[in-house]
Amino acid sequence: MRNIYLAGCSALLLLLAACNNAEQKTVNADSLKVIAKPIPGTPIKYDSSKRYIFLTWDDSPQPPGTVNCKQVFKEQNVKATFFSVGFNQVGPFKKRLIDSIRNEYPQFLLANHSFSHGFNDKYAKFYSMPDSAYSDFMRNEKELQIGVKIIRLPGNNTWASNGVIHGQKAENKLVKRLDSTGYKIIGWDIEWGQNGKQKQPKESATEMAKRVNQKFDDGSTFEQNAIVILSHDRLFEKKQFADSLNRFISILKQDPRNVFETIDHYPLVQRK
Ligand SMILES: [Zn+2]
Repeated sequence: MRNIYLAGCSALLLLLAACNNAEQKTVNADSLKVIAKPIPGTPIKYDSSKRYIFLTWDDSPQPPGTVNCKQVFKEQNVKATFFSVGFNQVGPFKKRLIDSIRNEYPQFLLANHSFSHGFNDKYAKFYSMPDSAYSDFMRNEKELQIGVKIIRLPGNNTWASNGVIHGQKAENKLVKRLDSTGYKIIGWDIEWGQNGKQKQPKESATEMAKRVNQKFDDGSTFEQNAIVILSHDRLFEKKQFADSLNRFISILKQDPRNVFETIDHYPLVQRK
């Protein structure tokens, strides 16, 4: 009887040891996963024979446009950046959408487009109140848990990095403060704009791809061999326009020189 009892105890101890071991292995695998997770902003090496394309889509979360754009980018397996607005993140679905963008780096990058979208599109007021506007960007960074110091100004095409500022707002106090505190401000080379008041893109996919090629051929992009394309998620709400976005990317992919990257890998952002 005693032997059986002892045998039982040993079996139990062996079982406990095995469980412990298994747990240990899981923990190790998990910590490896954490270490291996890519970090936004990591330096990349440019290939001078390539043309770098930065798709930068503004004002998310705005479903169903944001959902469609993400899906197209995923199907096409291209990288893109979402400049997001905390004010639009209302309710659990929109929060999950922002979480999914943040968590899907390196394919997608979540960046800062202010919390209130420039005091609800009141740009003159926004840019005349630099302290409040600065706090608005900081609030957005915190609430959306944005991991990079990369900003697009609402309603304004301005670039800033390391004290070098270009664009309409070059003399603005907010821009100078953002720049001096290490933020990179990203403008755009071309915009796939809205067709009047309709929520749809102005140009066809073919026209847009032509404009991209023209801009590279002219050498008139802000940075050499790199183009920043601006558009808005909401323009691609309807299926036919999501298809147009799909076509646009398919055309660009036919040129082997084209590489799609997230904006943390844009030369101005990478330059120390
Ligand atoms: Zn915007």
